[in-house]
Amino acid sequence: MSIQWYPGHMAKAKRQMIEKIKLIDVVIELVDARIPESSRNPLVDEISSGKPRILILNKVDMADDRVTISWAKKYEEQGYSVLKVNAQTGAGTKNIPDLVHRLTVDKRAKLENKGFNSRGDRALILGIPNVGKSTLINRLANKKIAKIGNRPGITTAQQWIKVGKTMELLDTPGILWPKFEDQSVGLKLAATGAIKDDLLDFQDVSVFLLKCLLLHYPHELSKRYNLNDLPQFEVEPTIDDIVTVLDDIGKRRGCMMSGGYIDYDRTAELIIREFRGEKLGKISLERPE
Ligand code: GDP
Repeated sequence: MSIQWYPGHMAKAKRQMIEKIKLIDVVIELVDARIPESSRNPLVDEISSGKPRILILNKVDMADDRVTISWAKKYEEQGYSVLKVNAQTGAGTKNIPDLVHRLTVDKRAKLENKGFNSRGDRALILGIPNVGKSTLINRLANKKIAKIGNRPGITTAQQWIKVGKTMELLDTPGILWPKFEDQSVGLKLAATGAIKDDLLDFQDVSVFLLKCLLLHYPHELSKRYNLNDLPQFEVEPTIDDIVTVLDDIGKRRGCMMSGGYIDYDRTAELIIREFRGEKLGKISLERPE
Protein backbone atom coordinates (compact mmCIF):
# COMPACT_ATOMS: atom_id res chain seq x y z
CA MET A 1 0.00 0.00 0.00
CA SER A 2 1.36 3.43 -0.87
CA ILE A 3 0.08 6.60 0.64
CA GLN A 4 0.97 10.16 -0.09
CA TRP A 5 1.69 11.96 3.12
CA TYR A 6 0.76 15.53 3.76
CA PRO A 7 1.31 17.51 6.97
CA GLY A 8 -2.35 17.07 7.88
CA HIS A 9 -2.12 13.28 7.46
CA MET A 10 1.01 13.21 9.55
CA ALA A 11 -0.43 15.22 12.40
CA LYS A 12 -3.54 13.05 12.45
CA ALA A 13 -1.57 9.81 12.28
CA LYS A 14 0.60 11.00 15.17
CA ARG A 15 -2.43 11.90 17.31
CA GLN A 16 -4.06 8.54 16.60
CA MET A 17 -0.89 6.70 17.40
CA ILE A 18 -0.49 8.44 20.75
CA GLU A 19 -4.08 7.43 21.62
CA LYS A 20 -3.45 3.82 20.59
CA ILE A 21 -0.21 3.60 22.52
CA LYS A 22 -2.09 4.53 25.73
CA LEU A 23 -3.97 1.23 25.37
CA ILE A 24 -0.97 -1.03 25.07
CA ASP A 25 1.91 -2.49 27.06
CA VAL A 26 4.48 -3.20 24.33
CA VAL A 27 5.26 -1.38 21.08
CA ILE A 28 6.31 -3.65 18.21
CA GLU A 29 8.17 -1.61 15.60
CA LEU A 30 8.44 -3.32 12.23
CA VAL A 31 11.18 -2.43 9.74
CA ASP A 32 12.38 -3.85 6.43
CA ALA A 33 15.54 -5.88 7.11
CA ARG A 34 17.02 -4.72 3.78
CA ILE A 35 16.90 -1.06 4.89
CA PRO A 36 16.41 -1.08 8.67
CA GLU A 37 17.47 2.51 9.32
CA SER A 38 15.74 4.02 6.30
CA SER A 39 12.48 2.21 7.06
CA ARG A 40 12.26 3.52 10.62
CA ASN A 41 10.28 6.57 11.62
CA PRO A 42 12.12 8.64 14.23
CA LEU A 43 8.84 9.60 15.84
CA VAL A 44 8.52 6.12 17.36
CA ASP A 45 10.89 7.14 20.16
CA GLU A 46 8.74 10.13 21.03
CA ILE A 47 5.36 8.42 20.89
CA SER A 48 6.36 5.19 22.61
CA SER A 49 6.50 7.13 25.90
CA GLY A 50 8.87 4.74 27.64
CA LYS A 51 6.89 1.54 26.91
CA PRO A 52 8.91 -1.62 26.28
CA ARG A 53 9.73 -1.99 22.60
CA ILE A 54 10.48 -4.82 20.22
CA LEU A 55 12.22 -4.10 16.96
CA ILE A 56 11.35 -6.62 14.27
CA LEU A 57 13.59 -6.95 11.24
CA ASN A 58 11.02 -8.27 8.74
CA LYS A 59 11.53 -9.71 5.24
CA VAL A 60 14.73 -11.43 6.36
CA ASP A 61 14.19 -13.88 3.49
CA MET A 62 15.04 -11.00 1.10
CA ALA A 63 17.96 -9.51 3.03
CA ASP A 64 21.61 -10.52 3.23
CA ASP A 65 21.84 -12.79 6.31
CA ARG A 66 25.26 -11.53 7.40
CA VAL A 67 24.15 -7.93 7.22
CA THR A 68 20.91 -8.72 9.09
CA ILE A 69 22.91 -10.31 11.89
CA SER A 70 25.07 -7.21 12.22
CA TRP A 71 21.99 -4.96 12.32
CA ALA A 72 20.43 -7.14 15.01
CA LYS A 73 23.62 -6.89 17.05
CA LYS A 74 23.74 -3.13 16.67
CA TYR A 75 20.13 -2.66 17.79
CA GLU A 76 20.58 -5.07 20.70
CA GLU A 77 23.55 -2.99 21.82
CA GLN A 78 21.23 0.02 21.73
CA GLY A 79 18.92 -1.78 24.16
CA TYR A 80 16.22 -3.09 21.82
CA SER A 81 14.75 -6.56 21.94
CA VAL A 82 15.26 -7.64 18.34
CA LEU A 83 13.60 -10.40 16.32
CA LYS A 84 14.39 -11.54 12.78
CA VAL A 85 11.17 -12.46 11.00
CA ASN A 86 9.67 -13.58 7.72
CA ALA A 87 6.05 -12.53 8.17
CA GLN A 88 5.06 -14.26 4.94
CA THR A 89 6.00 -17.77 6.11
CA GLY A 90 5.79 -17.05 9.83
CA ALA A 91 9.47 -17.91 10.44
CA GLY A 92 10.60 -16.18 13.65
CA THR A 93 7.07 -15.11 14.65
CA LYS A 94 6.50 -17.85 17.24
CA ASN A 95 8.80 -16.05 19.69
CA ILE A 96 6.77 -12.85 19.68
CA PRO A 97 4.20 -13.68 22.42
CA ASP A 98 6.89 -15.01 24.79
CA LEU A 99 9.06 -11.97 24.30
CA VAL A 100 6.09 -9.65 24.84
CA HIS A 101 5.25 -11.59 28.04
CA ARG A 102 8.80 -11.20 29.32
CA LEU A 103 8.76 -7.48 28.63
CA THR A 104 5.55 -6.97 30.62
CA VAL A 105 6.70 -8.77 33.76
CA ASP A 106 7.11 -5.54 35.77
CA LYS A 107 3.79 -4.14 34.72
CA ARG A 108 1.99 -7.36 35.60
CA ALA A 109 3.68 -7.50 39.00
CA LYS A 110 2.56 -3.93 39.74
CA LEU A 111 -1.03 -4.68 38.76
CA GLU A 112 -1.09 -7.82 40.87
CA ASN A 113 0.35 -5.95 43.86
CA LYS A 114 -2.52 -3.52 43.61
CA GLY A 115 -4.94 -6.44 43.62
CA PHE A 116 -5.83 -6.31 39.91
CA ASN A 117 -6.06 -9.47 37.89
CA SER A 118 -3.52 -9.03 35.16
CA ARG A 119 -5.07 -9.16 31.69
CA GLY A 120 -3.41 -10.23 28.43
CA ASP A 121 -0.24 -8.48 27.31
CA ARG A 122 -1.39 -5.81 24.90
CA ALA A 123 0.74 -4.98 21.88
CA LEU A 124 0.54 -2.81 18.78
CA ILE A 125 2.45 -3.26 15.54
CA LEU A 126 3.61 -0.07 13.92
CA GLY A 127 5.82 1.06 11.08
CA ILE A 128 5.93 2.86 7.75
CA PRO A 129 3.92 1.50 4.76
CA ASN A 130 5.01 -1.72 3.05
CA VAL A 131 7.20 -3.14 5.82
CA GLY A 132 4.77 -6.05 6.29
CA LYS A 133 2.53 -4.94 9.17
CA SER A 134 -0.71 -6.44 7.80
CA THR A 135 1.05 -9.63 6.77
CA LEU A 136 2.39 -10.02 10.30
CA ILE A 137 -0.96 -9.27 11.94
CA ASN A 138 -2.65 -11.87 9.71
CA ARG A 139 0.09 -14.35 10.46
CA LEU A 140 -0.19 -13.86 14.22
CA ALA A 141 -3.98 -13.94 14.06
CA ASN A 142 -3.87 -17.07 11.92
CA LYS A 143 -6.47 -15.57 9.64
CA LYS A 144 -7.03 -12.68 7.32
CA ILE A 145 -8.01 -9.59 9.26
CA ALA A 146 -9.95 -7.10 7.16
CA LYS A 147 -7.60 -4.48 5.78
CA ILE A 148 -10.12 -1.75 6.50
CA GLY A 149 -8.68 0.69 8.96
CA ASN A 150 -5.17 0.04 7.70
CA ARG A 151 -4.96 3.55 6.38
CA PRO A 152 -3.93 6.72 8.09
CA GLY A 153 -6.81 8.85 9.16
CA ILE A 154 -9.45 6.09 9.16
CA THR A 155 -10.65 5.12 12.59
CA THR A 156 -12.49 1.90 13.28
CA ALA A 157 -13.48 0.25 16.55
CA GLN A 158 -10.42 -1.32 18.14
CA GLN A 159 -10.43 -5.08 18.32
CA TRP A 160 -8.00 -7.26 20.20
CA ILE A 161 -6.75 -10.42 18.59
CA LYS A 162 -5.72 -13.19 20.92
CA VAL A 163 -2.26 -14.54 20.06
CA GLY A 164 -1.29 -17.62 22.05
CA LYS A 165 -2.30 -17.73 25.71
CA THR A 166 -0.89 -14.43 26.89
CA MET A 167 -0.85 -11.84 24.13
CA GLU A 168 -3.51 -9.51 22.75
CA LEU A 169 -2.72 -7.66 19.56
CA LEU A 170 -4.48 -4.58 18.25
CA ASP A 171 -6.08 -5.62 14.96
CA THR A 172 -5.01 -2.52 13.03
CA PRO A 173 -1.40 -1.48 12.75
CA GLY A 174 -0.05 1.96 13.49
CA ILE A 175 0.98 3.54 10.22
CA LEU A 176 3.72 6.15 10.20
CA TRP A 177 5.12 8.12 7.31
CA PRO A 178 8.49 7.31 5.78
CA LYS A 179 11.46 9.59 6.25
CA PHE A 180 11.68 12.32 3.63
CA GLU A 181 14.75 14.30 4.53
CA ASP A 182 17.54 12.50 2.73
CA GLN A 183 17.79 11.58 -0.95
CA SER A 184 19.55 8.28 -0.34
CA VAL A 185 16.84 7.25 2.14
CA GLY A 186 14.27 8.07 -0.54
CA LEU A 187 16.10 5.94 -3.10
CA LYS A 188 16.28 2.97 -0.73
CA LEU A 189 12.59 3.26 0.10
CA ALA A 190 11.83 3.51 -3.61
CA ALA A 191 13.96 0.50 -4.52
CA THR A 192 12.13 -1.69 -2.01
CA GLY A 193 8.71 -0.51 -3.17
CA ALA A 194 7.82 1.55 -0.10
CA ILE A 195 7.07 4.64 -2.22
CA LYS A 196 4.39 4.80 -4.86
CA ASP A 197 5.92 3.90 -8.23
CA ASP A 198 4.31 6.76 -10.11
CA LEU A 199 6.20 9.18 -7.90
CA LEU A 200 9.52 7.64 -8.86
CA ASP A 201 12.21 8.26 -11.37
CA PHE A 202 13.12 4.66 -12.21
CA GLN A 203 16.43 5.70 -13.73
CA ASP A 204 17.62 7.37 -10.51
CA VAL A 205 16.56 4.36 -8.49
CA SER A 206 18.26 1.90 -10.85
CA VAL A 207 21.51 3.90 -10.78
CA PHE A 208 21.40 3.81 -6.99
CA LEU A 209 20.66 0.06 -7.01
CA LEU A 210 23.47 -0.71 -9.44
CA LYS A 211 25.90 1.30 -7.36
CA CYS A 212 25.07 -0.81 -4.33
CA LEU A 213 25.13 -4.08 -6.32
CA LEU A 214 28.49 -3.30 -7.95
CA LEU A 215 30.04 -2.47 -4.61
CA HIS A 216 28.62 -5.24 -2.44
CA TYR A 217 27.03 -7.89 -4.66
CA PRO A 218 29.03 -8.05 -7.93
CA HIS A 219 28.76 -11.84 -8.04
CA GLU A 220 24.95 -11.79 -7.86
CA LEU A 221 24.80 -9.04 -10.47
CA SER A 222 27.09 -10.74 -12.98
CA LYS A 223 25.33 -14.06 -12.49
CA ARG A 224 21.88 -12.63 -13.12
CA TYR A 225 22.84 -10.65 -16.22
CA ASN A 226 25.78 -12.70 -17.55
CA LEU A 227 28.18 -9.82 -17.07
CA ASN A 228 31.48 -11.63 -17.39
CA ASP A 229 34.14 -9.01 -16.93
CA LEU A 230 32.80 -6.87 -14.09
CA PRO A 231 35.57 -4.97 -12.34
CA GLN A 232 35.93 -5.32 -8.56
CA PHE A 233 35.08 -1.99 -6.91
CA GLU A 234 36.82 -1.07 -3.68
CA VAL A 235 35.23 2.38 -3.62
CA GLU A 236 31.91 3.60 -4.99
CA PRO A 237 31.68 3.14 -8.75
CA THR A 238 31.39 6.31 -10.80
CA ILE A 239 28.36 7.22 -12.88
CA ASP A 240 30.33 6.16 -16.01
CA ASP A 241 30.97 2.71 -14.52
CA ILE A 242 27.28 2.41 -13.70
CA VAL A 243 26.10 3.50 -17.14
CA THR A 244 28.44 0.96 -18.75
CA VAL A 245 26.74 -1.78 -16.76
CA LEU A 246 23.29 -0.34 -17.47
CA ASP A 247 24.12 -0.44 -21.21
CA ASP A 248 25.29 -4.00 -20.95
CA ILE A 249 22.16 -5.16 -19.13
CA GLY A 250 19.93 -3.25 -21.59
CA LYS A 251 21.59 -4.95 -24.55
CA ARG A 252 21.51 -8.41 -23.04
CA ARG A 253 17.84 -8.08 -22.13
CA GLY A 254 16.81 -6.54 -25.44
CA CYS A 255 15.72 -3.22 -23.93
CA MET A 256 16.47 -1.31 -27.15
CA MET A 257 14.89 1.52 -29.08
CA SER A 258 15.00 2.07 -32.82
CA GLY A 259 18.40 3.18 -34.05
CA GLY A 260 20.14 0.75 -31.72
CA TYR A 261 19.88 2.97 -28.64
CA ILE A 262 19.41 1.53 -25.16
CA ASP A 263 15.96 2.09 -23.72
CA TYR A 264 17.08 3.24 -20.27
CA ASP A 265 13.56 3.51 -18.86
CA ARG A 266 12.84 -0.13 -19.64
CA THR A 267 16.26 -1.28 -18.47
CA ALA A 268 15.90 0.63 -15.21
CA GLU A 269 12.43 -0.75 -14.56
CA LEU A 270 13.59 -4.29 -15.30
CA ILE A 271 16.43 -4.08 -12.77
CA ILE A 272 14.15 -2.65 -10.08
CA ARG A 273 11.44 -5.27 -10.66
CA GLU A 274 13.99 -8.08 -10.60
CA PHE A 275 15.51 -6.77 -7.38
CA ARG A 276 12.07 -6.55 -5.78
CA GLY A 277 11.19 -10.01 -7.08
CA GLU A 278 14.32 -11.44 -5.41
CA LYS A 279 15.76 -12.48 -8.76
CA LEU A 280 19.14 -11.12 -7.69
CA GLY A 281 19.19 -13.02 -4.43
CA LYS A 282 19.27 -11.83 -0.85
CA ILE A 283 20.40 -8.22 -0.94
CA SER A 284 20.68 -5.60 1.80
CA LEU A 285 20.79 -1.98 0.72
CA GLU A 286 22.26 -0.59 3.89
CA ARG A 287 24.65 -1.87 6.52
CA PRO A 288 25.61 -0.61 9.96
CA GLU A 289 28.61 1.69 10.00
P1 GDP B 1 2.09 -3.00 5.34
O1 GDP B 1 1.84 -1.85 4.41
O2 GDP B 1 3.19 -2.68 6.33
O3 GDP B 1 0.85 -3.51 6.03
O4 GDP B 1 2.71 -4.19 4.45
P2 GDP B 1 1.98 -5.50 3.88
O5 GDP B 1 1.70 -6.46 4.99
O6 GDP B 1 0.85 -5.10 3.00
O7 GDP B 1 3.20 -6.11 3.02
C1 GDP B 1 3.77 -5.42 1.93
C2 GDP B 1 4.31 -6.44 0.94
O8 GDP B 1 5.40 -7.14 1.52
C3 GDP B 1 3.29 -7.50 0.56
O9 GDP B 1 3.47 -7.80 -0.81
C4 GDP B 1 3.68 -8.70 1.43
O10 GDP B 1 3.32 -9.92 0.83
C5 GDP B 1 5.19 -8.55 1.49
N1 GDP B 1 5.78 -9.13 2.71
C6 GDP B 1 5.42 -8.90 3.98
N2 GDP B 1 6.24 -9.56 4.82
C7 GDP B 1 7.14 -10.23 4.06
C8 GDP B 1 8.27 -11.08 4.34
O11 GDP B 1 8.64 -11.35 5.49
N3 GDP B 1 8.95 -11.56 3.25
C9 GDP B 1 8.61 -11.25 1.98
N4 GDP B 1 9.34 -11.78 0.99
N5 GDP B 1 7.57 -10.45 1.68
C10 GDP B 1 6.85 -9.94 2.70
